[in-house]
Amino acid sequence: MPLVATAELVAAARAAGRGVAAFNVITLEHAEAIAAGAEATGRPAVLQVSQNAVRFHGGRLGPLAAAMAEVAHAADVPLALHLDHVTSVELLRSAPAHGFGSVMFDASALPYARNVAATADAVRWGHEHGVWVEAELGRVGGKDGEPPLDAHAPGVRTDPEEAAGYAAATGVDALAVAVGSSHAMTERTAALDHGLIRRLRRAVPVPLVLHGSSGVPDAELRRAVTAGMVKINIGTALNTAFTGAVRAHLAGHPGVVDPRRYLAPARDAMARTVAHFIGLLDGEAAAADGTAPEPSANTAGTGNAAGTRTGNGNAAGDPVTADGGS
Ligand SMILES: [Zn+2]
Repeated sequence: MPLVATAELVAAARAAGRGVAAFNVITLEHAEAIAAGAEATGRPAVLQVSQNAVRFHGGRLGPLAAAMAEVAHAADVPLALHLDHVTSVELLRSAPAHGFGSVMFDASALPYARNVAATADAVRWGHEHGVWVEAELGRVGGKDGEPPLDAHAPGVRTDPEEAAGYAAATGVDALAVAVGSSHAMTERTAALDHGLIRRLRRAVPVPLVLHGSSGVPDAELRRAVTAGMVKINIGTALNTAFTGAVRAHLAGHPGVVDPRRYLAPARDAMARTVAHFIGLLDGEAAAADGTAPEPSANTAGTGNAAGTRTGNGNAAGDPVTADGGS
């Protein structure tokens, strides 16, 4: 199936009152698992790669992007390619050549005025080149001259009026907002501010994006979609599934050396996680809130065999980064 645009998937999901899931890709197995999970549900999805993941691949986007595009072409459901948490203008500008129809340009570490200026530039360039641009309002509720806050810091929330002004000043196509989730959470304990999501939906004309969704319980995610969240970013949950399956296999087979032995169950575990989240964000699943069975071990709901979601799955064992959690 040909690649589709993130813009198209987000618009369709918004019109239908559904969420569209965007999963972070680190290795080829992630991309294959996302396609397999999406095919199992018959629903579209977004494959996204963060600037941090590009850095992991030696700073070269091309090889992974080519693999993602081929996986998407071979899939029998619509899949889109998205660049996530991009701070490099050079990486932004390389997006179209590598098949990416959308970019999350992240100037959220800058003070408000500079965030607006940098994001407006990115949007202007993006629209001249057919690229849909998502951005994040990072300095939330602060005053001029104050250092920027991480939009995902505990307690930080996006102010609806400021978000509306930001969307108007930058011309962004979608806005990531801080409503209680946090990147790279390995336990699903985040409580979202659903009243704030509704106020943001009324105030901001563009679709809203939830980052850090891996740490949000199933019922909370369903409610978030009902309240107005459209693009739901999921990264850490796949890494939890991947790493949990690898760890379990290696513990049971200490003599194994062929990576296919443990990557196969890891890929299967990620595919089950993908299918779980896609089903969750579907309108019908949302309507059936409370009746869906809890996922079993190695799927999104319970994480690894120990029943907790441990480790962010980042190959380097990094502390929490945007890469881990989208
Ligand atoms: Zn993110």
